[in-house]
Amino acid sequence: MQFNYIANAPRASSSGVTLPVIDPSNGEVFDELQRSNAQDIDEAVQAARHCMDSVWHKVNAMERGRLLMRLSQKVLEHADELALLEQRDCGKPTKQAQADATALARYFEFYAGSCDKLHGETLPYQDGYSVFTWREPHGVTGHIIPWNYPMQIFGRSVGGALAAGNVCVVKPAEDACLSLLRVAQLAAEVGFPAGAINIVTGYGHEVGDALARHAGIEHISFTGSPTVGTLIQQVAAERHCPVTLELGGKSPQIVFADANLDEAIPVIINAIVQNAGQTCSAGSRVLIDELIYEPLLARLGNAFEKLRVGPAAMDLDLGPLIRQSQQQRVWDFLSDAQVAGIPMVAQGRVVDEAPESGFYQAPTLLRDVPVTHRLAQEEVFGPVLAAMSFRDEDDAVELANATRFGLVAGVWTRDGGRQFRMAKRIRSGQVFINNYGAGGGVELPFGGVKSSGYGREKGFEALYGFTTLKTVAVRHG
Ligand code: NAD
Repeated sequence: MQFNYIANAPRASSSGVTLPVIDPSNGEVFDELQRSNAQDIDEAVQAARHCMDSVWHKVNAMERGRLLMRLSQKVLEHADELALLEQRDCGKPTKQAQADATALARYFEFYAGSCDKLHGETLPYQDGYSVFTWREPHGVTGHIIPWNYPMQIFGRSVGGALAAGNVCVVKPAEDACLSLLRVAQLAAEVGFPAGAINIVTGYGHEVGDALARHAGIEHISFTGSPTVGTLIQQVAAERHCPVTLELGGKSPQIVFADANLDEAIPVIINAIVQNAGQTCSAGSRVLIDELIYEPLLARLGNAFEKLRVGPAAMDLDLGPLIRQSQQQRVWDFLSDAQVAGIPMVAQGRVVDEAPESGFYQAPTLLRDVPVTHRLAQEEVFGPVLAAMSFRDEDDAVELANATRFGLVAGVWTRDGGRQFRMAKRIRSGQVFINNYGAGGGVELPFGGVKSSGYGREKGFEALYGFTTLKTVAVRHG
């Protein structure tokens, strides 16, 4: 049985109700979580507030850095345990789960080093004045986390918030809580004071909503779907609470005829196959120069046919999807493609060892996807790659920008001038030239434009979002 973690102690929800924890590899229930409510959120917010007012505001930047560094090392010591928890909870193949645990440690390490480098400025003003700015924490911050990369998103969100001097109330996704509940215990063991990190589990529309509405939450970091992002904004607007939104994407990987295809192909495939396509920055569209459309599709198709899907512990190319409804969502997209006559180039294979009760989906490559079709416009959040061709650079830019999203883009070309032109003209938060960083890069500011959200997480830039700026003007004559 799992409990909320509030003020460095396990707590049962006041609801007395639990939720099942399901293993996506076989569909079986193996644990229980607290189905929390607004009262539990209130308890967590009060614990966080008390921590801030009594202890945390006195912990200086250097000490915060040392605490975060100790947590980073603790996570590394427990990396195998954390990876196994997340593997069972989320169906991640072993290598992916281990990479996520290591990335969590790296986030804490990066933000440990940033604490005492976050400073204000002195500003020129009238004679007789000295004017400067302070970067101050918001106070009690709320963090709503999705299920696809719980450890990584917790690391970037909570790591940055703590580094900037905030305390945290965290609502993990109902499908992905186990690793985060354990990390909160590890944080207590390395010396984080009671109330600095609080975790409350349960459904989004219950406990997530209560978190977003709570008057004591002074900043919200939300990572999740555009639909829920809209709800969070509406709720936060009522009390003018600042929000950072990391929403979805329909990110293009654009391949020109002069690209090094030997290098591009494995990266293009990994960008959609990683985490079974359940990645906000998945490269889910491949836009191909018409001069190489057929030969590149043939090579991608061959590679897709070799991909294998199976139970997480088998550590194949893909594990299962998170839950049955996600599997159904992918099936719906694929059956729409069939109805629209969109040709399938190739599919990978689900191995015989995969139990029927698991949530498996073979990776699928589709071609000639019309730009207006939902497969070219909406997030599938599964291993489905939509290919389409373009005539020239202008056409490629138009196609790349032809969705409501703008999170990440990849461009493959050896032409230096084109690399810069494309990077300038594509509307997205990140552009990768001759590489593609699906979810990677602790140091790199990350976030979207348009319906992919606003504000930036990761890198030093995130710390500006986790602070508010105070200007102090001293008249000394
Ligand atoms: P989701 O929006 O359904 O859920 C995200 C979180 O919000 C969960 O913790 C959920 O419980 C909570 N939630 C749900 N309803 C809520 C409500 N009414 N009020 C408050 N909280 C609520 O998204 P998901 O299905 O968990 O994740 C998939 C989505 O997340 C995709 O769209 C994906 O692109 C996006 N995502 C974006 C990023 C990014 O950094 N841009 C990263 C990962 C995932």
